[in-house]
Amino acid sequence: MSNPATVHLPPLPYPEDALAPHISSDTVALHYGKHHAGYVSNVNRLVAGTPREGTPLEDLIVTATGGLFNNAAQVWNHTFYWRSMHPEGGGEPSGALRAAIEGSFGSVDGFWKKFSDAACGHFGSGWVWLTAVGDDLEVMATANADLPQRHDRAPLLTIDVWEHAYYLDYRNARPAYVERWIENLVNWEFAAANLAAL
Ligand code: MN
Repeated sequence: MSNPATVHLPPLPYPEDALAPHISSDTVALHYGKHHAGYVSNVNRLVAGTPREGTPLEDLIVTATGGLFNNAAQVWNHTFYWRSMHPEGGGEPSGALRAAIEGSFGSVDGFWKKFSDAACGHFGSGWVWLTAVGDDLEVMATANADLPQRHDRAPLLTIDVWEHAYYLDYRNARPAYVERWIENLVNWEFAAANLAAL
C-alpha cells in the first residue's frame, strides 16, 4: 500500500546528452537523476503522514518553511531550470520580451551584463533569475533554494549557480559556464511564454 506522492520528478524536456558540449551528459545525469530526484524524494518523505501530504508543489513553495521549503523549492527551481535551457538555445529574444528587456535594461547586452555579473558574482549556492515585477523586468539573485515567488516577483528564466550545476564540466570556472549558457543554451521562447502568461 502506498500513498500518492505529493510531488513527482517531471521528465527532462530533452535527452540527457542534448546540452553537450556545453553541459555534459554526466552533469545532467547527476544533476537531474540524483540532485533533482533527491529533492523530490525528500519532499515526499517530509510530508508523508502529515497534513501537508498531497499539497501541490506550487503551494508548498510559498507556504512551507525550513527543510520542507528548501526541498520543495529546489524541486520547482530545477524543473524551471531545465526548461530555461534548450539544445538549440542562444540567439536573441524577439517581440514583447525583447521590448520589455530593452525597456528595463536599455538593450539585450545590458541585460546580459547584469545577469552575468549576478551569476558570476553570487557568493555560494543559489540561483540567478530574470524576473517580472509590475511592468519592469529585473535580474535577481537568490541564495540556496530561495525563489522569486517569495519576493513578489514572477520568474521568467533561471540559471543554477550551485557548484553541482557546473563543477564536473568547468571545475571552479563558473564564469565559463555562465558564458556558454548565455551564448548557447538560453531558451528565449520559454521566457517569452512566461512573460505572455502574466
Ligand atoms: Mn542544481
